[in-house]
Amino acid sequence: MRDPQVLRSLHQARFGAHFGAEPAIFAAPGRVNLIGEHTDYAEGFVMPAAIDFATLAGVSPRADGKVVIYSENYKEERVFEAAALPKTKTGHWSDYPLGVLSVLAGEGLAIPAFSLSIWSDVPLGSGLSSSAAIEVSTALAVLSLIGASYPGPVLARLCQRAENEFVGASSGIMDQFISANGKKDHALLLDCRDLSYKLAPIPADVALVIANTMVKHAVTGGEYTSRRAQVEEAAAVIARHRPEVKFLRDATLDDLERWGGEMSPEALKRARHVISENLRTVAAAEALERGDREELGRLMAEAHWSYSRDFEASCVEADAMVELAQDLPGLIGARLTGGGFGGCTVNLVDAAHAAEFAARLGERYQARFAIRPEIYLCHASEGARKLD
Ligand code: ADP
Ligand code: MG
Repeated sequence: MRDPQVLRSLHQARFGAHFGAEPAIFAAPGRVNLIGEHTDYAEGFVMPAAIDFATLAGVSPRADGKVVIYSENYKEERVFEAAALPKTKTGHWSDYPLGVLSVLAGEGLAIPAFSLSIWSDVPLGSGLSSSAAIEVSTALAVLSLIGASYPGPVLARLCQRAENEFVGASSGIMDQFISANGKKDHALLLDCRDLSYKLAPIPADVALVIANTMVKHAVTGGEYTSRRAQVEEAAAVIARHRPEVKFLRDATLDDLERWGGEMSPEALKRARHVISENLRTVAAAEALERGDREELGRLMAEAHWSYSRDFEASCVEADAMVELAQDLPGLIGARLTGGGFGGCTVNLVDAAHAAEFAARLGERYQARFAIRPEIYLCHASEGARKLD
């Protein structure tokens, strides 16, 4: 089903049925973060992989001066004047594509009239970054109409700005970066300080099994903001003693030993997570490089419990999803991925065991919570591109 040619012709047919025109089609993947949580805005390291769930954006020019945006997922259409696009959000899903248009217009590009049809099999709002996928696919589609293009890292920054400045979600750069720059069969160790990156191979016999807890406890997003403020508080305390520390990226566990007493207890714990997570993320890339599965699993477990106990961004369901996976055949490592408080866990699993692993994990979780989890068998996939 996820053969790009099949996806392309299905979306072409949907586009034709809705708009009666022939589209150019662009795909941008969702992502799973293997390790490195809440490190991006501390200018640290993350290691996501693009997955083979994607958002497709079909686009064709219009002659009536309108921008018409349709979501196949919501079966809903919005119509705007290309010459008078909204400058602020309305809280509707169309904020995501409109945010991209707003940022591109701010770069001096003239937005033409067009029809845009969005379809996605990235589960929406589950922590696999359907938001970055809709932004990046929309950006590629619109840029192609204009005849403009940007290098992947620049495209990612523009889409991040759409989400930060227009939609109003204070996310880091990771989601858009991996959606724009992912590589098939690889994870990407990204240095969020300067956006330099290294690819780390994911062997063909390792599957990414993503288990959706189907719960999301922090609907307001207020927790993200408070965690971020605590991380910044900790960095500011260390900077009083070591002015060269601008972000927790620059701090060490030794700094915490010495000056942690000057922070709020929350800031100290959050900082311990972020500083140790940076070390684990770099170590995990090296473990992937060496094919050291045992070390990778150990680092993922440590990362999960640091995220749960020090960052306090897990929940009963996510902790259970990780625990229930531990003794299943084929598990290499498991942890909660994404912003926290629910969403998905990522499990690296020996591919030969992946299907059975998924089935048994699902049964166990359902027996515990009476919730049927969605479990996705994924592979690391290519970043955003045109589907020819
Ligand atoms: P995540 O990025 O983890 O999936 P977010 O809350 O950041 O969760 O983004 C999800 C939101 O993005 C949806 O609620 C919707 O507003 C928008 N979105 C994503 N994909 C689509 C789509 N295919 N059609 C319409 N809106 C979408
Ligand atoms: Mg998102």
